[in-house]
Amino acid sequence: MTPTAPVPQQASLCILGSTGSIGVSTLDVARHLGIPVHTLTGHRRLDLLAAQAKEFRAKRVVCADPEDYAKLKSLCADCPEITVGAGPQALVEAAGDEHCPVVMTAIVGGAGLDPTYAAVQAGKRVCIANKEPLVMAGALIMAAARASGATLLPVDSEHSAIFQCLENHRDSDIDRLVLTASGGPFRCRQDLNTVSIAEALKHPNWSMGPKITIDSATLMNKALEVIEAHHLFQVPVEQIEVVIHPQSIVHSMVAFADGSLMAQLGQPDMRTPIQYSLTWPRHLRGPVSCPDLLKIANLSFEAPDRTRFPALDLGAAAARQGGLAPAIFNAANEAAVARFLDGSITFLDIPRLVERALATVSSGSNADPDLASILAADAYTRNWVACA
Ligand code: NAD
Ligand code: MG
Repeated sequence: MTPTAPVPQQASLCILGSTGSIGVSTLDVARHLGIPVHTLTGHRRLDLLAAQAKEFRAKRVVCADPEDYAKLKSLCADCPEITVGAGPQALVEAAGDEHCPVVMTAIVGGAGLDPTYAAVQAGKRVCIANKEPLVMAGALIMAAARASGATLLPVDSEHSAIFQCLENHRDSDIDRLVLTASGGPFRCRQDLNTVSIAEALKHPNWSMGPKITIDSATLMNKALEVIEAHHLFQVPVEQIEVVIHPQSIVHSMVAFADGSLMAQLGQPDMRTPIQYSLTWPRHLRGPVSCPDLLKIANLSFEAPDRTRFPALDLGAAAARQGGLAPAIFNAANEAAVARFLDGSITFLDIPRLVERALATVSSGSNADPDLASILAADAYTRNWVACA
């Protein structure tokens, strides 16, 4: 990843998924720094979406479901200057709108693929929180960024850390990337057979949306992040190590050939990497303070348990296989998480179903699938998991 053109901090912002955890934190950063907001999008919490649009004097607001158009329009009736849109095509148009040179991708899951791709094709500064599109279609997105001149800035805390450690270094000097993981709520729990939904939704360090919280409990999140890092930094999966770091203060590291290990530290607060993606290359004073190391006192590291958490090896295998396998991996996981949250499968069924989907759904022979094949594999896999 070679970002080139810093965008002025005052450039107008589009937030895809403004009503979620990352979206709300992004608006908090925008509030602190006075960043103008042009477009907001959301799915279910229409009241919040309309309230956000009014507070930030947005020009455009879009809901994902076309059936919600009339409701959103009536919620914005007292602000005729806000253009209201609805549906997948309206999301894509908003992401590509030339009035917003900066786009924050904060939709959860594969639903963010089309709008992310549109923002990248439009050559913008794209702040990438929504990691699943990179997992599904990393090669296509990176090629589109090279072609359009888009600047991709990572928001995921690990990738923001690596990005910062890599600034002013040569790619050929990298020995490996070291992604840290908190280990989730079950780091020390041996029996995962009886995990309840409520237990899995209780992350020890981070407050996040439900899907990524479950992914953090299974370590699927770290498997997705390895693939995300592979694409963003063009580093082979074999050179990406995962280390458990329960305090979530060291957000990730880069090991260099000369024996140096560079790390970025910060509070477990997404507003820090969100802000850096918006203000890069500046580290401006914002809403979050530096961690107090004397209070934290102890930073520890341990190897992940790959037997209790098979997600790591499943993700690495899908990445090595390439082609459609990462998209199948991602879709199977998303569908399995939805089934776990609706109570129809157990916690341990999540990696089991992902493993079975990878073994069963054909990943074809094309090493470089196009967007249509990726979306077809995604839809097929979701359906397969829903019926399995
Ligand atoms: P969330 O569930 O809190 O919010 C998701 C947002 O996407 C909401 O605005 C929702 O309305 C919208 N959305 C949901 N389904 C949609 C659909 N079908 N079409 C269009 N919009 C839809 O999720 P989150 O925790 O904010 O995570 C967002 C993304 O950022 C995920 O990809 C996640 O992996 C990544 N991420 C999150 C965190 C975090 O701390 N929450 C950290 C790193 C990366
Ligand atoms: Mg992360």
